Amino acid sequence: MNFSQLAKIMGGEILQMVENRKIESLLIDSRKAVISESALFFALQGPRHDGHQFVETLYRQGIRQFVVQKWEGTLRDFPDANIIIVPNSLRAMQALVAKHRAQFGIPVIAVTGSNGKTVVKEWLHEALSKRWVVCSSPKSYNSQVGVPLSVWALNERHQIGLFEAGISQAGEMQRLQVIIQPTLGIFTNIGSAHAAGFESQEQKVREKLMLFQEVEALVYCKDHQLIDKQVKSFLKDSKLLAWSTEHQAPYRYKIVGKEKGQTIVKVNEQDLLFLPFVDEASLENTFHILTVLQFLEYSMEDIQRIVKQFKAPSMRLELKRGVQENYIIDDTYNNDLLGLEMALDFLVQQNQRPVKRVILSDIAQSGMSEEELYQQVNRLLSDRRITHFVGIGSQISAYQSAFQGIEATFFPDTESFLRSLEHQIPWQEELILVKGARHFGFEQVVRELEAKVHGTRLELSLDAMAENLNFYRSLLKPKTKLMVMVKAFAYGSGNLEVAQLLQYHRVDYLGVAFPDEGVELRKNGIHLPIMVMNCHEDTFEALVRYQLEPEIFGFGQLKAFGEFLRANGKQSSIHLKIDSGMHRLGFMPSEIPALIEQLKNYPELKVKGIFSHLSGADEAQFNDFSHEQARRFQEAVSLLKAELNIDPLCHLCNSAGIVRFPEYHFDMVRLGIGLHGVEVTGKYDQALKVPARLKTFISQIKEIPAGETVGYSRKGKVEATKKIATIAIGYADGFQRAFGNGRVKVKINGQRVPIIGNVCMDMCMVDVTGIAAKEGDEVILFDDQKSLLALSEAAGTIPYEVLTLISNRVKRVYFHE
Ligand SMILES: *Cc1c(COP(=O)(O)O)cnc(C)c1O
Repeated sequence: MNFSQLAKIMGGEILQMVENRKIESLLIDSRKAVISESALFFALQGPRHDGHQFVETLYRQGIRQFVVQKWEGTLRDFPDANIIIVPNSLRAMQALVAKHRAQFGIPVIAVTGSNGKTVVKEWLHEALSKRWVVCSSPKSYNSQVGVPLSVWALNERHQIGLFEAGISQAGEMQRLQVIIQPTLGIFTNIGSAHAAGFESQEQKVREKLMLFQEVEALVYCKDHQLIDKQVKSFLKDSKLLAWSTEHQAPYRYKIVGKEKGQTIVKVNEQDLLFLPFVDEASLENTFHILTVLQFLEYSMEDIQRIVKQFKAPSMRLELKRGVQENYIIDDTYNNDLLGLEMALDFLVQQNQRPVKRVILSDIAQSGMSEEELYQQVNRLLSDRRITHFVGIGSQISAYQSAFQGIEATFFPDTESFLRSLEHQIPWQEELILVKGARHFGFEQVVRELEAKVHGTRLELSLDAMAENLNFYRSLLKPKTKLMVMVKAFAYGSGNLEVAQLLQYHRVDYLGVAFPDEGVELRKNGIHLPIMVMNCHEDTFEALVRYQLEPEIFGFGQLKAFGEFLRANGKQSSIHLKIDSGMHRLGFMPSEIPALIEQLKNYPELKVKGIFSHLSGADEAQFNDFSHEQARRFQEAVSLLKAELNIDPLCHLCNSAGIVRFPEYHFDMVRLGIGLHGVEVTGKYDQALKVPARLKTFISQIKEIPAGETVGYSRKGKVEATKKIATIAIGYADGFQRAFGNGRVKVKINGQRVPIIGNVCMDMCMVDVTGIAAKEGDEVILFDDQKSLLALSEAAGTIPYEVLTLISNRVKRVYFHE
């Protein structure tokens, strides 16, 4: 496809074409730009995002082809760019990919439904790739943007396509249908939850069915009555591949029994099949796949061999602390080219360590020759300036010569690699991506590289954090800047990782409480401006050396810092703190004239910001006082500006203020708790998600007879025989004593159970009488707003305190879905 063809395909107008270049890769995220002349950037516009902002930067970086829906620049500034203007960039991308798809006359399978799409797609991928070269969506790329990016990967060597589609609104499926053009469909199920964006369940089903309007056959479960009814009025009977566990159906799966983690199924009243799980969701997913495989004429022996290997897929990329100050990114479920690209992008956005290493297994069939494939891998690595590489597997080892310009070593298999690590891990202070196809067993590699700490963990969803960030951004005017407070270990979530995420998402400022917090960020690759709130004389040198911007709150401190700068021949940006009513740090309004005089004495102090803090922004009962604070603040600001002739950034609002006082956003706002999914005003709590999940495991289970007690001070009374589980978390982890004696419940295997007795330092006990629980099972202390608030209420405190008290010995694990 060439640039000149785009106008016709997209219905746009070419603003400038310098050279009729090829279109090879599609780009939508400016941060993930891999610079190439044949890349085409789509400036997408959404409620919280405008890709047009990045056109200029991308051009400077070397991107040469653009699809825009508005154009305000001067073409003279883009002398080497091809630019097309279209009514809607997203629709233009979809039209381009639909055209691309239409070139391939191969079978294409599409999966949709409320749950299980990704698992069905991943498992089916395993089954299909035993016979064909498969092109499929990576992870859960199933949206209006994800689907076109997935389908664009189709090329002439692929023999079958497999894509998932998800929608959130009426009208969307029609567009995905045009892009995927499926020949075979799978409708997984329909959730009972009312979904915003649809009028009724029926409408939701009908809308999803739009995906299948042209299919030759559709797999679905007849036992879902709503689906069954709608499907029958939508497609001819001859096209329906219905299955059932209960009723007569063309495909019949009768569950004969369940034992030792296996389910025995009688297929079509004849063959017995053994499935490696017992839960309903996995069974339903497998029945869809069994139906497809039978339709594609797989033998029962082959099917048995394939399903035996099914295992819950992990779609997450996990970022963990490794031994020897390494960071590990764990992506050990599958390995294909698109997935590799996503993992590499994640690697690149982590700046914690300058040396980046990739440990990679053989890659699944990609539709290219092996030589081309590994050259392509090398290109992906060098585009992202990855300097160190380990290849594991016979295939990748055979193409060593493809890895040019990178320090690379190769091993024929996982065992020989593990043997090489036996005595010592040869790397230090690196960021290491471990990515392998499942049968390479790279979990062992991760286990070897990972720092070993006790099993209590705080898992943090980087996606949820980014969504929360974008939500608050959507409340700001385009010109308002955003500072995010990452003090106190970023509210317990991990300052380095959170700061990295914020830098990647281009916030304007970070705020910390103490200079050493700022220094640590600087030492770990954070180059954003950083404001520091509590600075005293002994830290001035560090402030200047690491370009940290102190809050100046008092005359003694002002003078000392001014003198320090003068003696060293330096200057510094500062932020003046006005005490408008919080009465913590800051200059009182009455002190402003004196402050102005002092500042005139010290031209070394550059006033970059003036700010104040609201003491009751979250509560309506304090509205009058909040307005009074804003008034005092504005008065101080006017005086300072006029007398000093400066144009500083003025900022007043914290998370609650952002929500409740749009009129006081001024030049910048300071986001804190909101990033962590707690909307203290309650107005938008539905819009946020708590990224943190605190988890531990059961160390021991025992039966305690009636009349005994559990734990210190004999507090946990056992009136009738109880089953008690000891779990590996205590107050030294931040799981407070106030949570004990039934005041909170924790979740084990989906059931909520109370703490019995006092919480100990490193452990506590829960009552698991009557529920399924065994040693080693996971225990969830909190995983959403409700459970987090339950903890803070039990302790008579606020979520801020619960989060920041989670101690450092609790391992933080970051993931990206
Ligand atoms: C911590 C802090 C914030 C953030 O407050 P949240 O209530 O967490 O949003 C903002 N400004 C200052 C000065 C702070 O100390």
